[in-house]
Amino acid sequence: MATETRSPRGWVSKNHKKLCVSVPPWWTLFCVLTSLCVLGCRRDAPSQATASSPRHVLIITIDTLRADRLGGYGNRDVATPNMDRLAREGAMAPEASVQVPLTRPSHASIFTGLYPAQHGIRDNISAALAADVPTMAEAFKAGGFTTAGFVSSIVLSAQSGLGRGFDEFSDRFDLGADAGDEARFLDILEKRGDVAVADAVKWLDGHAADRTFVWVHLYDPHAPYEPPEPYASRYAGRPYDGEVAWSDELVGRLDAALTRLAIRDQTLIALTSDHGEALGEHGEAVHGFFLYEATLRVPLLLRGPGVRPGTRIPVLVRSVDLFPTLLELAGVPTPKTARALAGRSLASMARGGPATLHEEPSFAESLTPRIHYGWSDLRSIRDGRWKFILAPKPELYDLARDPDERNNLANAEPARARALRAGLDRHLADDMPATIRKTATSDVPADLVARLGALGYVGVGGAADRSAGADPKDKIEDYKVLNGLLHEGLLQLRDKEYAASAARFRDLEARGIDSFESHYYFGQALVGLGRWRDAAAEFERAIPRLPGFAASYLTLADCRVAVRDRKGAIDALRRGERAVPSDARLYRRLGELYRDGGDFPHAAKYFREGIARDPGEASQWNSLGMILGASEELGEAERAFREAVQRDPREPRYTYNLGLTLQREQRADEAVPYFRKTLELNPRFAAARDRLAETRSLK
Ligand SMILES: [Zn+2]
Repeated sequence: MATETRSPRGWVSKNHKKLCVSVPPWWTLFCVLTSLCVLGCRRDAPSQATASSPRHVLIITIDTLRADRLGGYGNRDVATPNMDRLAREGAMAPEASVQVPLTRPSHASIFTGLYPAQHGIRDNISAALAADVPTMAEAFKAGGFTTAGFVSSIVLSAQSGLGRGFDEFSDRFDLGADAGDEARFLDILEKRGDVAVADAVKWLDGHAADRTFVWVHLYDPHAPYEPPEPYASRYAGRPYDGEVAWSDELVGRLDAALTRLAIRDQTLIALTSDHGEALGEHGEAVHGFFLYEATLRVPLLLRGPGVRPGTRIPVLVRSVDLFPTLLELAGVPTPKTARALAGRSLASMARGGPATLHEEPSFAESLTPRIHYGWSDLRSIRDGRWKFILAPKPELYDLARDPDERNNLANAEPARARALRAGLDRHLADDMPATIRKTATSDVPADLVARLGALGYVGVGGAADRSAGADPKDKIEDYKVLNGLLHEGLLQLRDKEYAASAARFRDLEARGIDSFESHYYFGQALVGLGRWRDAAAEFERAIPRLPGFAASYLTLADCRVAVRDRKGAIDALRRGERAVPSDARLYRRLGELYRDGGDFPHAAKYFREGIARDPGEASQWNSLGMILGASEELGEAERAFREAVQRDPREPRYTYNLGLTLQREQRADEAVPYFRKTLELNPRFAAARDRLAETRSLK
């Protein structure tokens, strides 16, 4: 609930909630935890558009989409007519594989053409993509395209860094002024695909005359599976398939919009997924734990100028290949970067040229068992029909004969297993040292360094200990129990059943689970119970396990405020500032705390720091204006209020504050329209009526 605060000087602010869960940060994690791709390319791609170059490029990533659910991939039980048409009218890769079966890291591989160890995003709750890693959107923008992205999961919000290069990036899951209204937030948390598609079509309506690069991300097939009608009834008992059929309808809507705008023949479409879904295979319910084909294999379709209809790309295609492929097909230059793209262009094959590319291996990783449970991580290499999974008990599969990976041949074929492992070791040795990114390490206990290193938070030397810990295969039953408890606890948290939720997290603790999320969510449940000190203790345990997660510091600070420990709250935020110096929310909150304590110089400093990192949020401009106004710096205050009004012209407090400043600057004539606007926005805004009367009496 927004509350109004009136300062002694008459400024009006719109405060965020003072207590915990300001913008339910635990929801970010919820979608994250309940839990990634595409095609291939070449570096000496032609840099000039040709007659067959597309004017428009549309990438559709359908989250959690198994290849074997599409008709074009042989399925007969799920209706996917629109995707099947794309496959017929364009090129398809019968064998496409992702680099990591998790939403954020896999999308990062799609949009950077790099393996996770190279782009640095190893987990859904990683820090943002480093600024020196070029993205596909940046390359297309530099190539003269107007760019827009529409994402449906908070995991891919601008905070991930994947919004970089997009002129327009739609990642709003809150509703501006109502962001504090949790219930409403939750309702739209998993933005339905029809909303994202409608937003994208509306944007295309206004930009069909430009060259455009558009990314639409649909989250619907991700758990929970809740397809709308008629798909719920049509696919009763198999709701995942219903979500796939519903997503196909959405692809049809996008294609129909291209036809209506008469740009269909000029548009290159690429459709793929960030990972599949295990649906019980090998004991895994969803994705992100094992590295079996159920979650690594995805569809990959290309259609449009330069792509020959009916093409089947006969080699193994990887997520990292899509970037160079699209650049070459669109005639866009490869970005100049210190780091070569890991993928290769498949453009010549998509054009229907001879199959001159030979097989290249695809590598994948799953760090979830290690990061979140303390077990061994998993790495895999697939080379043609053969696949090797590096685990404490290694696995070797012949996918041509054993596509379900039931018959482990590691002991029967030791020479082949050794050769594949050697290839995997070369890959791991190549990319590890170059890519480890250092961030704040000061408060990370040494025993956690190795685990966190996997997240890219702290430097670890080489890959020597990467397979320490239990084999995830032996832990699948534990994983199910633990994940079940975690999931129940999270749902109860969502439903505000805090006592029940806290009991689940206490149970996890009793079973020896000592992970970032077990502490973080336990803390959130305790917040719900008003047990601020206990909650703060849980956040203190969570922070060293994932020091780069800003929400922990924010919520910890809120807990301290709740027990009237403003200094402790400031200390928590300043630790956050050192650990995640790029997160504007920490500075804003510091500004608010200093302001509430009457320390205006520090408050102004921190609001300015927040603005320097993210100028978009209107309320911080308003807060800065109030402080400047209180210090009689009216010119600067006026500038700040103008920024607030420009960013949120529907907020009467901002128009009022601007009017008040102008009045104080003896510019009553200029103030009048802002007081009038304030009353137009809120007819019961008494102060605006009083000020308006004052300006009349002066005349
Ligand atoms: Zn995903």
